[in-house]
Amino acid sequence: MAKKIFAAEAAVWALCAFLSGCSSGSSGVFGDPSKLSNAESRGLNALYNEDYKYFCMGIDKFYCRLDDKGNLNVNCRDASCLHDSLECDAYAGYGGYFVWHEKLYREYETFVEKDGVLIPYGHIVDTSDGTEVFSNPVPDGMDPEKKIDDSTTIADIVILNKDYLKVDGQLHTYLLDKDFQVKYWYDDECSNSWGMIDGKHYYYVNDILQLIRVDLETGSVQTIDTGCRIVSCDNDDENIYYSDGFGDLYRCSLADGSCTKIAENAYFFSVCDPYIYCRQDDAKQIIDKTGRRIADYTDCVHMDPNSLVQIGDKMYAPFWDEIKAGVAEMDLDGKNYKEYNMQ
Ligand SMILES: [Zn+2]
Repeated sequence: MAKKIFAAEAAVWALCAFLSGCSSGSSGVFGDPSKLSNAESRGLNALYNEDYKYFCMGIDKFYCRLDDKGNLNVNCRDASCLHDSLECDAYAGYGGYFVWHEKLYREYETFVEKDGVLIPYGHIVDTSDGTEVFSNPVPDGMDPEKKIDDSTTIADIVILNKDYLKVDGQLHTYLLDKDFQVKYWYDDECSNSWGMIDGKHYYYVNDILQLIRVDLETGSVQTIDTGCRIVSCDNDDENIYYSDGFGDLYRCSLADGSCTKIAENAYFFSVCDPYIYCRQDDAKQIIDKTGRRIADYTDCVHMDPNSLVQIGDKMYAPFWDEIKAGVAEMDLDGKNYKEYNMQ
């Protein structure tokens, strides 16, 4: 997901100003970090534990929490708080929270004025003691011409597996180990921040929409011949899925490289477990991993493939507009759609 989206920001802050449902937490507003999990691979979007699901409402906004009775509140203890500064634990700013090896980390940006321009600086901080663990420096080895246009801003964070964390900057990307040491970096990623690890290989899509495979042991880089430009990409443990410029959706086996076309007109999709959620023009379809149609979920208005989060046997999507903010929920097969509104 591209992070810097400012649409509807003013509307959300207007909504925020009259929200009064601040609630109390126990040990930190997200509870015990060792009992907290990231929803999917992107902890910045949603977290959950036994009692609550925490959703980032918007991109540069605040976290809400949903309890098992369906109550949705801002995840802040202070009833007088406006949730608009880093003092507030619910505030996401341009970043958010993620869990990594049983610790809760917060990613945020600060801005410093330089020659009349505000320069963004990204920070990743261990919430247990406030230590900054990573600040996303521009890579030393980057081409000087490219370096001029780069910055230390953090655009996205993806947890690839237990060994690798991916940090997207403006023009560079880092793969970090569990101690936040740089294991690999590159500067030709496309705007989609997808990436995956399979054994010793790392896969991503480059800026000319080719699928790239990196051997993380030797550093050798290989372009995979897909015969097309990749518009959208996702994966599960066994396959990479991509759509081309015609909206044809392919499933490619990591084991043997064989590719099968499984759907058409599917430019935007999200691979979950066990289904794939596609947007096809004005319709939304759920298909299985062979392309068999499971359900049309067009009527689940706030469920978009780009904003879906899977937690257990339910799909969720936070939503907000001028009138209301909330979280939508449905079963994996699109049944039992409902919306929880902010209190
Ligand atoms: Zn607050």
